[in-house]
Amino acid sequence: MAIHDRINEKSPWTDITEGNKIYEAATSRDFCTGEWRTSTPIWDDEKCRQCLLCAPVCPDSSIPVRKGERMDFDYMHCKGCGICAKVCPFGAIYMREGKNEKIF
Ligand code: SF4
Repeated sequence: MAIHDRINEKSPWTDITEGNKIYEAATSRDFCTGEWRTSTPIWDDEKCRQCLLCAPVCPDSSIPVRKGERMDFDYMHCKGCGICAKVCPFGAIYMREGKNEKIF
């Protein structure tokens, strides 16, 4: 069993790793980091020209690309940093205040 599976709010302090470090790899799928978001990127697919400049700059890989085209955001993991909105040369992404209550 992975460390992050057996540690929860009832775990004794002796089970918690120093500094709450997580040692396993590829645990990001298990954490909904989108809950941390305070502003939400909105993608306008009418303005989007599929240049794909936004996808590689996303630090959370929250812009899925399939068959050479970007899809809508993975809001379960997007932390709302806004880098994608800054990099888009066509104004196809804007930031909306709030975490977007439709998703969480
Ligand atoms: S950078 Fe803008 S135009 Fe290019 S793929 Fe991303 S959203 Fe679309």
